[in-house]
Amino acid sequence: MPEPVRVVAILQALPVRGVAVPPGQAARLRGSAPAVRPGTPLYAKSVEQLRSGRSAERMECTYVVWLPFDGLGNRILSMLSGFLYALLTDRVLLAALPPDSADLFCEPFPGATWRLPVEDFPVANLFGVGQDMEQSYTRLVGGKVVGTATNATAAVTPSYVYLSIGYRLRDRIFFCGEHQRVLRKVNWLLLYSDLYFAPSLYEVAEFQDELGRLFPEKESVHHLLSRYLLHPANPVWSLVIRYYRSYLAPATRRIGVQIRMYGHSSIPADDMYNQILNCSRQEHILPETTNDDDKAVTPTAVTGGDGNGSNNSTAIFIASLYSDYYKRLRSRYSTPHVAKGGGATRVSVFQRTHEERQATDNLAHNQKALVEIYLLSFSEELVTSGLSTFGYVSSGLAGIRPAILLTAFNHKVPETPCRRAVSMEPCNLTPPRGLKCRDKPANEEDLAHHIKVCEDFKDGVKFFD
Ligand code: GDP
Repeated sequence: MPEPVRVVAILQALPVRGVAVPPGQAARLRGSAPAVRPGTPLYAKSVEQLRSGRSAERMECTYVVWLPFDGLGNRILSMLSGFLYALLTDRVLLAALPPDSADLFCEPFPGATWRLPVEDFPVANLFGVGQDMEQSYTRLVGGKVVGTATNATAAVTPSYVYLSIGYRLRDRIFFCGEHQRVLRKVNWLLLYSDLYFAPSLYEVAEFQDELGRLFPEKESVHHLLSRYLLHPANPVWSLVIRYYRSYLAPATRRIGVQIRMYGHSSIPADDMYNQILNCSRQEHILPETTNDDDKAVTPTAVTGGDGNGSNNSTAIFIASLYSDYYKRLRSRYSTPHVAKGGGATRVSVFQRTHEERQATDNLAHNQKALVEIYLLSFSEELVTSGLSTFGYVSSGLAGIRPAILLTAFNHKVPETPCRRAVSMEPCNLTPPRGLKCRDKPANEEDLAHHIKVCEDFKDGVKFFD
């Protein structure tokens, strides 16, 4: 595998799996950003309008401000969805980055900044605003402050609204065409979300065609967006490269195993370990050992190579908050062995950190998490954990369909250990199910071809081809 390189930030230059960017779109991406960034007269004018409390018609620039919410995987997914929404609605995307995220990513737009100058921003308390904020779109509609022509009574459109589209989905009507028309009049949208809501944008009729043109292959949406927008900052990237060169690059094959345990679905470590091995057998991922029952490996020593003069080696990279599964797998492959079927292989097992607990308010912790997301993404094969956005981002960046370990709902070990993803797209874990809109519906037949229930969550939806 060639050494990973940082992808150049021009959508048209991407290693494309079926993307077609209309020329105007790409020009808008590159051309308009510098003129509307913070520090420019146009930005200052928009902020003045924001202070005035009312939205103006025909503003040159309107904005989506992305707000941080939840862990790094969730944040990345909602940011990518927000970027896509900004593209579809001709808005400028700005990110309100707290200190815990300050040094994670490079600026994606040449000659411009996507950072919101939080200290000077007229709306206070942007961080940790919570999903039930007063100024959420649905509340304002309920109070007739904004709304479709028939129900709004206020004379002015407020200068900003919050969009509460996190897992509680307070603003589910956001996904109706008639409300999109209302939102178009609002100069500033403050996006509070931890979801990958891109597939649900496709269910809005007015976005369907343009999304179809941008992404002829729906399975590539996250892959392309993440490779376009996300460029790890130098402190993160140098850690990625150093680790990759030292431990993963020398192998002929890399396998990533991402293990995420949630309190609501925890099972004993022995059961979890067996689930990983059963999944691996089902999907033919980890090298099998000479011992059938795997209780103890009986390795047959091989010193270097496979006897045919070739260097056949596998690096298994474990990402987990805990070291337990790493230790078990390391012991399983503790000496060179003959793989089942006769081919010899050398297996090395690595884990970079085991942080023991999530600490999203800590920059160093988030940097380690990002390093591991990228290291996973250099794998040729991935086993990821169901429901985990950390895993979703890794496989999307990798551009491969992972085997997804199924969740132990009610602490019950799942009968089927894992499912092979039908697409590398992340799952939107909280789509607006049962939403009734007044506007014309999206093309149902097309939706049936491109939106599917997630492999790991029956209430979620994802893109596929
Ligand atoms: P999700 O909760 O699995 O959907 O993923 P998130 O990324 O949104 O939140 C989990 C957070 O816990 C991560 O962002 C990290 O801060 C931490 N975390 C979870 N698993 C790992 C891991 O394997 N390695 C590291 N370094 N951190 C992890």
